[in-house]
Amino acid sequence: LRLYTTSKFSVPVTLPNGKVYQQPTGLFINGDFVPSKLGKMVDVINPSTEEVITQIYKATEEDVDYAVQSAKTAFETTWSQANPEFRGKVLFNLADLIEQHADTLASIESMDNGKSLHCSRGDVDLVSKYLRSCGGWADKIYGKVIDTGKDYFAYSLRQPLGVCGQIIPWNFPLLMWSWKIGPALATGNTVVLKPAETTPLSALFASQLCKEAGIPDGVVNIVPGSGKTIGEHLCKHPDVKKIAFTGSTVTGRHIMKTAADTVKKVTLELGGKSPNIVFADADLDKAVKNIANGIFYNSGEVCCAGSRVYVQDAVYDEVLAKFKTFTEGLKVGNPFDADTFQGAQTSKKQLDKILKFIDIGTEEGARVVTGGERFGNKGYFVKPTIFADVKEDMSIVKDEIFGPIVTVSKFSTVDEVVDLANDSQYGLAAGIHTKDLNKAIEVSNRVKAGTVWINTYNDFHQNVPFGGFGQSGIGREMGEAALDNYTQVKSVRMSIDKPTY
Ligand code: NAD
Repeated sequence: LRLYTTSKFSVPVTLPNGKVYQQPTGLFINGDFVPSKLGKMVDVINPSTEEVITQIYKATEEDVDYAVQSAKTAFETTWSQANPEFRGKVLFNLADLIEQHADTLASIESMDNGKSLHCSRGDVDLVSKYLRSCGGWADKIYGKVIDTGKDYFAYSLRQPLGVCGQIIPWNFPLLMWSWKIGPALATGNTVVLKPAETTPLSALFASQLCKEAGIPDGVVNIVPGSGKTIGEHLCKHPDVKKIAFTGSTVTGRHIMKTAADTVKKVTLELGGKSPNIVFADADLDKAVKNIANGIFYNSGEVCCAGSRVYVQDAVYDEVLAKFKTFTEGLKVGNPFDADTFQGAQTSKKQLDKILKFIDIGTEEGARVVTGGERFGNKGYFVKPTIFADVKEDMSIVKDEIFGPIVTVSKFSTVDEVVDLANDSQYGLAAGIHTKDLNKAIEVSNRVKAGTVWINTYNDFHQNVPFGGFGQSGIGREMGEAALDNYTQVKSVRMSIDKPTY
């Protein structure tokens, strides 16, 4: 990279595969890496080894004010004034740069988050595809001409909101960065983005690619730091016009209340406890692969994880046996090993939460079919765990665990499984496995979820909207739907005088 390889606010980091890259450690504000005002640094931990990777600067409220001011100036003077084609072009450039640095980005992500390289590569691939898709939308933001009678000319415009505060979690650090900045930039907004405390590295690395791509200074600002201080500050800031948040439902609720004082637009992508349904007529081997991928992909740290599996009674024992065998064949361990399916959980806090849920499940009387314990003594690894003989009121069936823990229950009829699937405060996703088209469509119509996967799971595409029903969120990411979150409609109606000539 041309720009920051010698920056004072970057350090060489050796990746677990032996390659060395230059990691920015400063906050990215107004097109430059800068130290925080207080100069305080925090450790970034590799969850697979529990070792410190590096230290980065921790933003304060004053730093956020500077970032918001930079974003506001950039919005007013450059970005909202830029030709849509220009916005598209630099997003295409950014997508190309992500592709060029895909190996480094995937390795950073696996080192920082703990996920397997196989997952990180999938993330980076979707990041470049999504940014390219956003670049394509940039010059296709249309209003409408509205017929209000011959004496008037009326039309609507879709205009950007201004400075958007974006707060993202640690499970897909780079992917969430792209889901947030992509549509915001395509529609002419500027952003101040706060990565999660534990996983700031890929967003900082990628911000220098923004500069390299030609995105003007101040359009993208990255402020790593604490949710409770600077995240909260962003939500209160009068110059921030919108908050886009991905994370827990508890924090999402709080953010909505905080943002209410300044009537910010709020979109939330929150938790889930998604049902994954296997009918007796499904291709059972394929269904088993899908239910395993549905819960164990990304170490189970997926908001739409299919964490409640429902199997029709006629094939329950067979599916459970196949699921156990398949799960025991999944390799857990070093994210950088080519055949690793499941890496480490992202933090000690997350590991402890998951192990506590395993204890709770056992105390509640559920049966551990496989797993049920930590894997190894070093690094935050958990064995993929299947609980059977569960009751619907158990906490392991009700609460989002956010780890490789799944419950399996039996059902008889379509009506019964639809009721079971919908018995949740959440509504992020659902899976249906059947060869019967009528059943697939009927159940997908009745299930309360923002995304339904049929004979597949955790299967994302940049053009397909994603978001939640119920307490799983507000608004949609990806596809054309994401653009609505970042534009506001302006209506214009003009009276037409009779010509005097
Ligand atoms: P969290 O929701 O608290 O954190 C997500 C982001 O919000 C982080 O960047 C954090 O710094 C920020 N944040 C926290 N408090 C804030 C506040 N008051 N104001 C503004 N921003 C704030 O999640 P967590 O504590 O890291 O994880 C707790 C649980 O949340 C997990 O165990 C998991 O169940 C769930 N989770 C869900 C998702 C998801 O995508 N649905 C993602 C991460 C975590």
